Parts: sequence; C-alpha cells; structure tokens
Amino acid sequence: MNETLRDADALIARIRAYNPKSDTRLIRDAWAYAETMHRGQTRRSGEAYFSHPVSVAMLLADQRLDDATIATALLHDTVEDTRCTTAEIEARFGAQIAALVDGVTKITNLQLSTVELRQAENFRKLLLAMSRDLRVILVKLADRLHNMRTIRHLPPEKQMQKARETMDIYAPLAGRMGMQEMREELEDLSFRVLNPEARQSIMRRFLTLQREAGDIVTRITDDIREVLAERAIDARVFGRAKKPFSIWRKMQEKELTFSRLSDIYGFRVITGSEEDCYRVLGAIHRRWTAVPGRFKDYISQPKSNGYRSIHTTVSGRDGKRVEVQIRTRQMHEVAETGVAAHWSYRDGRKVENPFAVDPAEWLESLSERFARSEDHHEFLEHMKLEMFADQVFCFTPKGDVIKLPKGATPIDFAYAIHTRIGESCVGAKIDSRRVPLWTRLRNGQSVEITTAEGQRPQAAWMDIAATGKARAAIRRALREEHRDQFVKLGRELARVALEHIGKKASDKALATAARILGLKDTTELLARLGSAELDSRTLVETLYPELVDRPQRAAVPAARAVVGLAGDQTSLRAPCCQPIPGERIVGIGTRGRGVTIHAIDCPNLVDVEDQPDRWIDLHWQPGRHEAAYAVTLIVILLNDAGVLGRICTLIGEQNANISDIQFTDRKPDFYRMHISVEVRDTEHLYSVMTAVEADSDVAGVERLKTGSRGA
Ligand code: MN
Repeated sequence: MNETLRDADALIARIRAYNPKSDTRLIRDAWAYAETMHRGQTRRSGEAYFSHPVSVAMLLADQRLDDATIATALLHDTVEDTRCTTAEIEARFGAQIAALVDGVTKITNLQLSTVELRQAENFRKLLLAMSRDLRVILVKLADRLHNMRTIRHLPPEKQMQKARETMDIYAPLAGRMGMQEMREELEDLSFRVLNPEARQSIMRRFLTLQREAGDIVTRITDDIREVLAERAIDARVFGRAKKPFSIWRKMQEKELTFSRLSDIYGFRVITGSEEDCYRVLGAIHRRWTAVPGRFKDYISQPKSNGYRSIHTTVSGRDGKRVEVQIRTRQMHEVAETGVAAHWSYRDGRKVENPFAVDPAEWLESLSERFARSEDHHEFLEHMKLEMFADQVFCFTPKGDVIKLPKGATPIDFAYAIHTRIGESCVGAKIDSRRVPLWTRLRNGQSVEITTAEGQRPQAAWMDIAATGKARAAIRRALREEHRDQFVKLGRELARVALEHIGKKASDKALATAARILGLKDTTELLARLGSAELDSRTLVETLYPELVDRPQRAAVPAARAVVGLAGDQTSLRAPCCQPIPGERIVGIGTRGRGVTIHAIDCPNLVDVEDQPDRWIDLHWQPGRHEAAYAVTLIVILLNDAGVLGRICTLIGEQNANISDIQFTDRKPDFYRMHISVEVRDTEHLYSVMTAVEADSDVAGVERLKTGSRGA
C-alpha cells in the first residue's frame, strides 16, 4: 500500500513541476481506482498490469499534459480489460474523462487484419474522424509507445503485427499531428522488429563513420557557436545523429549512399526571437556556402500542422555537408510536440504558444489546408480525404467497425450487420441513448440495435434506409409479406395490359412470359408485377414484341421532349416536383453539362433564386408526348383487399403504366400508399386521378410534391 502511494506521489510530483494547480485528488482517485480494477492482472513480462497505465501516464506527464489526459491514461484500459464500465467511469470521474476513456477503448477495440492494413490511410483518417477530442489520440500514441518499448515480451508473430501496425498507422499519425519525436521513436522501435538486419547494418556503418570522423558533432556545434558569438547572437546550438530508420528511409527514397554527413547528423539553432532566426541564417550563409535547392523557409510558410523552422544545408568544415534547422524556442516546442502543444503547461499556466495550432480548428480545416498545399503528396491525401467524407464509421457494441455511406440510419446499420438483425429491428440506441430509427449516424458513434421476435420490415423503412443492401432486403421482405395481395394485383395489371392490345392474360400466356423472363413460375411473375419490380410494359413486350411501340410511334419521344437545351446538355426531371408536359418548366444548370428540369412553382427554386445565370428557359415540345413521365400519387384506400386490384385496373384503363407501388402506412382501417404512374401530360394525369378517385373505396388521391428529398 505504501509502495503504491509513493508511486502516485512520484507521478503527482512530476505533474506539479509544470502545473502546480493540478487537481491532485483527481489523479489520486484515478490512480486508486485503476489500481484496484487491474489488481491481480499481470503483463507478459510478469510485472503487475497496472505498471502499464502508470507508464503511459508518466509519458504524458513528460509532455506536460492536462489533468484530464493524465487521468484518462491511468484509466485507459479499465473498460477494455476489467469489469468496469463507461457508465461507472462517468459516475466517478465525470462526462469528459468518460468520453476520453471511451474513445481510447474504441480505438483499442479496432481489430486490424492484414487486409485492412492496406487501407492504412483510411484508418488514420478514421482515427481522426472518431476522435472528436484529439487527447484520445495523444493517450493512444503514448499507450502504443509504451507497448512498443516493451514489445520484446510478446511472441514473434505478435511483435511483427504490432510493429507493422505502428509503422503504417501510428507513426505517420504522430507525424501528421506534428509530434516528430514521437514519430521517430515509434518508427525506430518498429524498424527494430520489422527489419533488424537493415537496422544493424546502418548502426555498424554509423559507428565506422563516427570512428573515422572523430567527434564531429562537437566540432561542428563549436564552429556554429563561434560564428554566432562573433555577431553576438544569443542562441543555443545542438547536434544529433538521426535515427537509423530516418537514414534508411532516405536511402530507400533517394538511393543515397551512406556517406553524406548531412544525411546522418542534424544541427539545430534555437533562438529567442524570429528576427534572430534570420540573423543566424545570414551568419551561417556568410560563413559557409549554401547548398542549392536545400533551403526552405517554413517560418514565412508554416506547414499545416503548425511546424515552423528554417532549413538549410551548407558545405561546412572540409566541404562536408551540414544540415541546420533554425527556429525559436516556441517554434521548437511545436515542432517536437505538435498538436499536443495546445494542452501543455509551463510554470503552472496553460502555455499560450502563439504557434500551437488549435486542435479543433486543425481537425476541421484538414481538408481546406490540403487544398492549398503546394505539396503534391499532401494534395493526393486531400483527394482521399474527400472520398472519405462520404462515409461514416460506427461501432457495434463489441467494437466492430461498420462502414456506411453518409446519411445512413440505424436501419442501414442493422442490415449491414445481418439481414436477420435488420428485419427484426424495433429500436436503436446511439451511445447508450435511445433514438428514433430515422436518426442519421455520425462518425464514431456506438450503435446498439434492439430486436424483437415477430417484428417484420415496415414499408415506412423504405424512406429511412439509405443503403442499397437495406432497401433491397426491405423490398424483398415486403413482397413476401404481402405476396397474396401482390399476386392479385399483378393478375389485374397483367389482364389490363394484355387486354389493351387485344390479348388475354391466360395461364398459358403468363407461364410463357415467366419462362422467357427466367422466373420460377406464374405466381412469381404476378408477385413481381404487383410489387412493381416488373412493369406490365415488359410483360407485353415479352409476349408480343411486334405489337408494342406501334401506337406510340407518333408521340414525341422522351429524349426530345424539351426545347431550349443546348446540343450537349443532358437533362433530368427534378424528383421533387416531377414536372410533366402541360406544366410550365424551367431548367437549372448543374455542374458539368447537366440541367435539372423543375416546375416553375417548385418551392426548391428558392435555393437558386440568387443565381440567375443558372436559370435556363425551357418549354415542352408541342404535340402528343409518350406516356413516360412518372408522377407519384398518394392514394388512401379503405382497407379492402379487393380495392387494390380495382385501382390498378382503373389506372391501366387510362393507358397509364404503374412504375412503382409502396405502402407507406397500414392502419387497421386504411392503407396509405404511393403509386408512381407514367403519364403523357397534365390532361392524362387528371384523367387517371379522376378515375381512381371515383372508386368508392378510395378516400383520397393527391399528387406527391416533396421538398429537397426525392419522392
Ligand atoms: Mn494500454
């Protein structure tokens, strides 16, 4: 017990050194709680498990991070590895720390297979997208660093896997966040595992060079100090050998031989002010010759992660190349700790480092900054980021990642897990909170689907589901459920369509059609007709190809229906107002050569009111049009099974084709359905609506006009 307390004291002392106002009780509570939770667990090394979260907390204290981050570090494995829950963390330590611990747990739970590793870039973006709070990533990086430092205790296969993951995902992520020190160490630890021979040979060559050149670092730093002293510039000078992996990567990239000093050693001059940076640069360039093409001024043009520095390479002592980086102390801090600089403390105050990037802004403007980056590589990254923006990543309660398109709902999520889950879905919880099924999912959310036996897919789900998988499954299930009805409906549709050309819908004719269309039997054919998966025009064409088209030949073909488009413009009827011949229309230019045709009274036109150059004068071609313009009708029927068939007959008798049928509401005493009908023009539409409305079991017919979402 005393031992434990002394350790907590050591951590607290480390924090107090940079943040005297630290909430010692919070740290002590987190310590005690995590220690109790992990009691009895050991690491592979044989140590008590709790030594791991403590080491992670120490690493973050070295980065001078805030109390919430340190407490999160102590607690980071409790939810994953012990009986503790996020709810309990929230009750004890508050919502903020609970959210941070939850974020770390989610990232830990992502199981990366080798295949997924090929999408490392996507994965790094996923981590960023998930972490609404970047401190989650800071804890995860420290966690990974400690695990990599102690990786020798794992079996070789596990070592390789972890090292690969670190090299592909965590090290570049640290770099992206501007944490160079972290990146270099993660890379080097992985390099040790992944390619020990290469690392060995570099180390050997390194030692040989050092022996040949003597204490080159001291001599060069002295040279630089002397030059600065002559001009009375106050600055600190450091020299260091680069990490083996950096050298190896440069050799790979540029096929360099291992002899250039500038590729092995780097020197830094840390000044007190920005002016001094340029004075130092002047002094160095006057004393030694600058190597062309190696000068970069990241002070006047900082990198996107906040990195500022002047880089130059000169021919130094004996003509040997020396690389020098010049920056102020504050710039140096940002260069070493990157985004983490935002949370760090100095002398008890949150550091107001003018160069530290605001993490929230940094995340938000990622894509914007990539857009104006001169760096080609970063530009490519940006393109990938844009693609990534159409997707959301959510989690199952077990922590599996489910990738969905933007706009997806819990229904899509349920179907993505398994069709069975989708079909029996009755409710959903997002991050433990009950939500309606039409809720749009966001990145990083945990989704839990409630299922119930006996639940069937609802027709209304068609409007909620965004993925093709869910929509197809719902449609299929609805067809099965209402099969008898659809078969009846299909029989009516077939009868009307064939009568129209003077033929009979005999069983033999229907069986022939089913065979030609490759369907199981006549029932299947009728069910598809009734559920609008097959339209009656196709049926007629299949049986009597020579009889089709003829009556329509005189009609204006749909392809030339509109006057006013340029030759290369393509047009599309707006799904919101579904304009038909006889209605006044206007074209709205879209990107490329596309034009969307709206009815002149469409409420959505308000959105483009202030862009007059996009408006195009259009009108319908005079003459009789093809019956090819779908309009959606909302039809309310009294609940009488026979009425559906009659409606279809009525519509067919008006020579209109039904292209889609959906039940949107099924109450004991009425149905509400959407029927899409293909008509010629307004007159044709009115005759269809009048005919339907005349049926005594029809409570109402109305044309559907929606807002920006399609019908
Ligand atoms: Mn851990």
